[in-house]
Amino acid sequence: MRIEIPQKVDNIIEALTEAGFEAYAVGGCVRDVILGRIPNDWDITTSAKPLEIKKCFSRTIDTGIKHGTVTVMMGKAGFEVTTYRIDGEYEDARHPKEVTFCTDLHEDLLRRDFTINAMAYNHKDGLVDIFGGQQDMDRKLIRCVGEATERFTEDALRMMRAVRFSAQLGYTIEEKTGEAIRQLAPNLKKISAERVREELTKLLESPNPSFIEKAHEYGITKIVLPEWDEKVEDGKALRIMKALEASDPDKLIRYTILFDGDAEEAMVVLRRLKFDNDTITKVRKLSASLYKPISANEVSIRKTASLLGRELFLTLLKIQAAIADATKGKQALFSEEEIKKTDMLFRMIAKRGDCLALKELAVTGGDLIECGMKPGKEVGEVLQKLLEIVLEHPEQNTKEFLLTQI
Ligand code: ATP
Ligand code: MG
Repeated sequence: MRIEIPQKVDNIIEALTEAGFEAYAVGGCVRDVILGRIPNDWDITTSAKPLEIKKCFSRTIDTGIKHGTVTVMMGKAGFEVTTYRIDGEYEDARHPKEVTFCTDLHEDLLRRDFTINAMAYNHKDGLVDIFGGQQDMDRKLIRCVGEATERFTEDALRMMRAVRFSAQLGYTIEEKTGEAIRQLAPNLKKISAERVREELTKLLESPNPSFIEKAHEYGITKIVLPEWDEKVEDGKALRIMKALEASDPDKLIRYTILFDGDAEEAMVVLRRLKFDNDTITKVRKLSASLYKPISANEVSIRKTASLLGRELFLTLLKIQAAIADATKGKQALFSEEEIKKTDMLFRMIAKRGDCLALKELAVTGGDLIECGMKPGKEVGEVLQKLLEIVLEHPEQNTKEFLLTQI
């Protein structure tokens, strides 16, 4: 079996081979190429030790020498090249606490989580698939390499990875693997918030966000997202899942739908998952506006768009459209027509360049002070008042007019 791999990846493999080492593309990239998906990144595994890898290439970065990883630069692109290794306990997303280098590709493949992620390839040896990864692809199965309970005990995050891959690929979790998850899901409480966040986000951004229900059935959300279990009990989950499925695969959109308009909950959960402030603020704002219907008139639209900013306003409309689509019929939460009309009016407002923010006012704080106002809090309050006037009457955003209003 011959697989297409990028020239640069092949060049790296060739250079290592010429220096007397073994080298293969490995893991997610091999899986994705076989499936006809575009890999996120290309990982290379090799018998060479980090210093030996560095000697083979002119430009390298010490990404994780301790863990055996060197990034090899080819032009602007970087490729992670990692020494064959056996992992100790994991402490964060990518790095086990301690690793042991080994000399055999098979041992390196043994440490990997699922059969579909444990295949290696180079042009010389072809596909190395010792655990039946290809067969599991044909059967659309996520199956642990080795004994599932052992593998999940070593690293509990793998349970979330199982559900995430099943959502990304539309695969079923093999029975023993699933049983082990059911049994060991409570161990997820030991996993760092950052690692949980990455997997939950990938699950939600996948083509099957409603697989969050699987995470619930396996007892995963009970540990990492008990807020979801409450929604299941309150009978809200089905509607939310439909909206998730109807929405674009975007982080802000999917999380906002997940929290179903509860800005407080969004903030609490996203903080707990150690999200960046930008994401937290945006999801909180979107959540707060979600169920405050915008009437399709210009003033109402300008007011909401001013609160959210132009980009988030469009995101909000997309979210509402997804909810409208998912709740079509008797319990419709939004009217598709109303959203379309709002979208059209907003685009007109944006094109015309109506003022929507303090910094777009025709007067500045400096202008107010020149007119005799004392610098301080009051300047800001007056500007805010002027913005409210202009949101109602955009044509009044001129310096002459506004200075008569202070
Ligand atoms: P993607 O990059 O699309 O999220 P991936 O399969 O490439 O998926 P990565 O997290 O990039 O996943 O890891 C690369 C490879 O490293 C995996 O395919 C798997 O072989 C191995 N791997 C990653 N995380 C673990 C883990 N927690 N336990 C065991 N093996 C892992
Ligand atoms: Mg990857």
